Amino acid sequence: MLAITERAIRASFVNCTQGEAKRLAVPNDLETRPWVDLDFLGWRDPAATQRAYLVAESDSGLVGVALRVAPQTGRARRSMCSLCLTTHTGDGVSLMTARKAGRDGRQGNSVGVYVCSDLACSFYLRGRKDAGRRLDETITLEEKIDRTTTILGAFLRRVLE
Ligand SMILES: [Zn+2]
Repeated sequence: MLAITERAIRASFVNCTQGEAKRLAVPNDLETRPWVDLDFLGWRDPAATQRAYLVAESDSGLVGVALRVAPQTGRARRSMCSLCLTTHTGDGVSLMTARKAGRDGRQGNSVGVYVCSDLACSFYLRGRKDAGRRLDETITLEEKIDRTTTILGAFLRRVLE
């Protein structure tokens, strides 16, 4: 993705109030992020670990989504990220829930997704970060990236609709 500013990030949120978007914790190292290797920007709030955020490009511009991270069960198990299809053990994958945008969200409707707990899917796909095991696939990196952005796009549409 292209580099984005804190201002653009705060303006992109579709499922929280303007006040929340103004106050939420945006990473302070945006200048040094490896943007060309990012399919989306995702991060956890270091001061409130149940909060996570994801910002991605879409046909209608940047879309930012505030997520609530479900508490971990503490059981050792394998689970797979539904965005990048990386398998992690233990707490490596979390259920993250986004309140839907607009009236649906105000009525309490939300959409959930299982995603790498550190939201570093782009790095797992590119082998910049090692999760120990990935699916044994013959498709190219470009195809994997395409798949991830397609799945992410579908998730964002469900938040927006
Ligand atoms: Zn992932």
